[in-house]
Amino acid sequence: MAINLENFRKIKAECDAANATLVAVSKIKPEQDILALREAGQLDFGENYVQELVEKADKLPKDIRWHFIGHLQRNKVKYIAPFVHLIHGVDSFRLLEEISKQADKLQRDIHCLLQVHIATEETKFGMDADELEECLKAVADARTEGKFTRIKIRGLMGMASFSDKQEQIEKEFEDLFFLYNRHQPNFDNTDTSPILSMGMSGDYQTALQKGSNMIRIGSALFGMRN
Ligand SMILES: *Cc1c(COP(=O)(O)O)cnc(C)c1O
Repeated sequence: MAINLENFRKIKAECDAANATLVAVSKIKPEQDILALREAGQLDFGENYVQELVEKADKLPKDIRWHFIGHLQRNKVKYIAPFVHLIHGVDSFRLLEEISKQADKLQRDIHCLLQVHIATEETKFGMDADELEECLKAVADARTEGKFTRIKIRGLMGMASFSDKQEQIEKEFEDLFFLYNRHQPNFDNTDTSPILSMGMSGDYQTALQKGSNMIRIGSALFGMRN
């Protein structure tokens, strides 16, 4: 068995202590590994690629909650809209419009996180603080016209720099936590709790210290990806 159950139990306990949700990132990993972790009690799984997610969701048990954590193209929203549990990487108002369109069509609420760019690398997706504010304002405006009723913006998601500079990572998580707090009144959580998705295998303990309540863990559970 390729999965690391010892790490799973350790990280799961750390999540429970911090009141955080563990999302097991299973991209590129085989279905047997997902099933093995589900046997151990894990139900939240994250995937980065639309086609891979659709195929896995089709074959695997229906109690699994699928998180889409990758970069989502507008023309692919329709494939995951019928079943996705949470879309983490919403990085533009135009993408939200497409998700809203599919949600209306399906008569299904779709839960989303807005992705904020906190890292120093240019390659990581996400909005900056101004774009985030503009996006939330555009959503509020659209709602006065009766639109976006099936979109639930639950909170924020971000990825820290790939770095071993601890201070840098702490600062990036602090910045994201600040934005999360500041915009909390603008999220859609009347019957739900707000979500701050930050932290991966290499930095999740720092993320939990800095206020994360959802971590996305791949390699620590499933081993390295090629
Ligand atoms: C791959 C990925 C993860 C998991 O990364 P690990 O370092 O393997 O834990 C988390 N979040 C996103 C957005 C990813 O693409």
